Amino acid sequence: MLLIRCPWCGLRSESEFHCNGEVRPIRPHSSSLTDQQSVQHTCDRLNFKGWIEEDWCHSKGCGEWFRLNRHTVTHEIDQD
Ligand SMILES: [Zn+2]
Repeated sequence: MLLIRCPWCGLRSESEFHCNGEVRPIRPHSSSLTDQQSVQHTCDRLNFKGWIEEDWCHSKGCGEWFRLNRHTVTHEIDQD
């Protein structure tokens, strides 16, 4: 089980959080997306091995959003 530090609540179990995925690539505004562009944005990922930046929400806690860096192979989290 991962422990994630919410900037407002401190260390909590991963089960209290929701990950919204990678910060990049930035999703184009939905009003300008074709169906094909939307599918490409969602599915065409490099499946990068290494550190990525993600958006997380403390959904079962304070409800606040924040960013963290997670290693895609080890799941190590860097929040400094
Ligand atoms: Zn929180």
